[in-house]
Amino acid sequence: MKRVTIIFATNNHYKVDEIRSRVRNHFNILTLKEAGIDIDIPEPHDTLEENASEKSRTIYRLSNQNCFSEDTGLFAEALNGEPGVKSARYAGDVKNFQANIDKLLRNLKEKENRRAKFRTVISLIWKSKEYFFDGISNGKIIDEPRGTQGFGYDPVFVPDGSKKTFGEMSLSEKNKYSHRRKAVDKLVDFLKVNFKH
Ligand code: IMP
Repeated sequence: MKRVTIIFATNNHYKVDEIRSRVRNHFNILTLKEAGIDIDIPEPHDTLEENASEKSRTIYRLSNQNCFSEDTGLFAEALNGEPGVKSARYAGDVKNFQANIDKLLRNLKEKENRRAKFRTVISLIWKSKEYFFDGISNGKIIDEPRGTQGFGYDPVFVPDGSKKTFGEMSLSEKNKYSHRRKAVDKLVDFLKVNFKH
């Protein structure tokens, strides 16, 4: 069967690895760099949907090819959903994983409610129409970072059903619980049905 090639509107190699690990047998993912597109797309909106949409539509305009993007946020209950859509720049304009974790732990100090969730939204532009898929991972934020794998807030997030943080998990373990994996599985299901070869 001919494989679909699709541009993933990101240069975040962690996200690319996670997504490739799910879709390897179904279609080829091209990063922006591999597609010859050198651009840093802003994420100025108040919802994951709008930010994801901005990224995929921008790449579609530039490439005229099927493409998708994703936007993810970590939402802590005790902080009214912070860091949320602003997760990447929680501690300031320069993206810094450690500074973001430090700020999150500072803001959660003394808070009893440590419940939080990751949510991923994928925007797919397929044959010039847009489709959305999402995935959620519920869990809690711990007091001290644990583990060195993954990225972002992984060392402080323990998903429900596990005792380990995402930072202590291999990619395949994280995929059991991950918001991104759940969203990507929906994308793959869609493409399997809609891709006629
Ligand atoms: P983005 O705007 O979708 O690139 O992601 C926002 C920020 O959320 C990233 O910079 C990371 O800090 C964090 N993030 C996104 N996905 C994950 C994840 O799977 N684990 C941990 N942190 C993540």
